[in-house]
Amino acid sequence: MINQDRLVETFLELVQIDSETGHEEMIQPILKQKFESLGLIVKEDDAKAKTGFGANNLICTLPATDDSKEKIYFTSHMDTVVPGKSVKPVIEDGIIKSDGTTILGADDKAGLATILEVIRIIQDNQLPHGQIQFVITVGEESGLVGAKALNPDDLDAAYGYSIDSAVPVGNFTIGAPYQMQIKATTHGKTAHASTPDKGVSAINIAAKAISKMKLGKIDHETTANIGKFEGGGPTNIVTDLVHIWAEARSHSELKIEAQTKHMAQTFKETAEAFGCHADVDTELAYPGFLVTEDEVVYQKAQAAAKAVDLIGEPTIGGGGSDGNIISQFGIPTVILGIGYEAIHTTNESIAIQSLVDLVKYVLKLIEIA
Ligand code: ZN
Ligand code: CA
Repeated sequence: MINQDRLVETFLELVQIDSETGHEEMIQPILKQKFESLGLIVKEDDAKAKTGFGANNLICTLPATDDSKEKIYFTSHMDTVVPGKSVKPVIEDGIIKSDGTTILGADDKAGLATILEVIRIIQDNQLPHGQIQFVITVGEESGLVGAKALNPDDLDAAYGYSIDSAVPVGNFTIGAPYQMQIKATTHGKTAHASTPDKGVSAINIAAKAISKMKLGKIDHETTANIGKFEGGGPTNIVTDLVHIWAEARSHSELKIEAQTKHMAQTFKETAEAFGCHADVDTELAYPGFLVTEDEVVYQKAQAAAKAVDLIGEPTIGGGGSDGNIISQFGIPTVILGIGYEAIHTTNESIAIQSLVDLVKYVLKLIEIA
């Protein structure tokens, strides 16, 4: 039933269309046209105006032919990381990769190619299905910017699947942590380095604060890291300003709040002990989510994998994806493995077999919805 040549051809076509994150303006109209010519109802939202990114998200609806099935959705993103311009795919021994100068873009064009092949198979074979929405986002690689700009009212599904996990095809990610971005600024008092008693070094404040802070692995579900430390000037000046960028992650909402509070307070209290102050801004980069085994979306993900002879093993992820955001809309979501390798590097690759297995798996998910 699967047309492997057509699937690979679609994948190769998509990876050769530039769509570095924020610059989705070239690929989006091509995708829109493909979905429309397959007879889907395509809605463009207003993500471009909201975010300044290259294009709007696409919400593509395939109306039901069998109303006894649940309404479900799938999401994949149209943007890629850099360097993603002028990708020249190479096929060797059943593996697709780039020529080594760019990423491949299987993250997430493998998802897009899968979706298009699935729709073609459904139509060629008049397979019965419930309503299916395909949510194709911009800006995923820039911090889920496109998904965050979605209008929840545009989505109409009981549950669904994000096609965007690095685990092997058939396995799936059922949870991901909350991530908090923390920016701290320590303010000292400037003075000439020959009269240090007249000043307070902002570097000293920041260093003392960081040395007191709980960082690294906090517990089995919580981590924290200082990413960047910037400030200072000539050696003959006591520096009065340092900026620190940090993050915290946790699968527990309570723990991420506690860790963030700890980091912010440590900066502030340390600065105050020096008679100075620190400013701390915190922002939730994305919310976490967790799907449990009593949920339909989990059970179907596992059952469909087994039905097509894949493993069907759930895993917990360490990062965010559009699934974190859509889960927050109240639509339970699991993230399906794609089996792409070394994503976000110029060594990125995917096996043709992974694409074929993914199409089979998605067709089964639609069948048992
Ligand atoms: Zn991705
Ligand atoms: Ca990615």
